[in-house]
Amino acid sequence: MEELKQCPVCGSQKSDPFLSTTDFFLSGVEFTISRCSNCGFRFTNPRPEANELGKYYQSTDYISHSDARKGLFASVYQLVRKYTLSRKYALISNYHLKGKILDIGCATGQFLHYMESKGWEAAGIEPDEKTRNRAISEFALKVFPEEQLDDFEKSSFDVISMWHVLEHVSALDQRMDQLKRLLKPGGTLVIALPNCDAYDALKYGKFWAGYDVPRHLYHFTRADVEFLFGKYGFKLIRVLPMRFDAFYVSLLSEKYKTGKMHWLPAIWNGFWSNAKAGQKNGFSSHIYLLKTK
Ligand SMILES: [Zn+2]
Repeated sequence: MEELKQCPVCGSQKSDPFLSTTDFFLSGVEFTISRCSNCGFRFTNPRPEANELGKYYQSTDYISHSDARKGLFASVYQLVRKYTLSRKYALISNYHLKGKILDIGCATGQFLHYMESKGWEAAGIEPDEKTRNRAISEFALKVFPEEQLDDFEKSSFDVISMWHVLEHVSALDQRMDQLKRLLKPGGTLVIALPNCDAYDALKYGKFWAGYDVPRHLYHFTRADVEFLFGKYGFKLIRVLPMRFDAFYVSLLSEKYKTGKMHWLPAIWNGFWSNAKAGQKNGFSSHIYLLKTK
């Protein structure tokens, strides 16, 4: 285990325990989330060493990496994903009609494949070898391991996306530098993250599926994103809701809390999460759009 002595966002050496939660998804191991006394950023601490993290991903259930169509839950998930692909494309089209996109953490490549079908030049990064090879063989995509991030030419991409990925990255500073180096001037970062200020996070507490320890090393709020990216010269230009995540995360949280996927309370809490989001909480997950200052 690695204990962080400094806040990954502001560098302060003072933090307090915020919450003890469990890896309900896979290992059953308990982890603590610390809260920085200076900037309020929450991070899993201690956390597995970077080379130990892989074993917390080894499950066919990790649904974002699996396309197995089994049961109602998986079917709904697939339907939502189809809708989400077109919505992601439409969102990016507001800023760039065509160009070069890099999707970091592209999994099996559905999103990049969709972007290619719309005339974009696409590249992906996927650390898991099996998943990467699937993206390559299924869609003939250009998908690389993480080391490639340092090999691309400077200012290579109009858009860099990370859909629920940044919270998994051990070397956060290094990744921020890489994003800065690889994005073209005038380019756009598209970063999707869970929001631990959301109503469903407060409602489910330690059972909230958005904590997903130890896979999620950081637990961002909107203010954290603005502060962290600001330090690296990016300006937050837009925040969009991911309304389906409120239901999906509530359903998983129900499972973690009660052992069963109780649909009704999940739908109820998901509904209230979206309804209350406009006040101070924000949505269960957000898409952040950022540009260089
Ligand atoms: Zn801090």
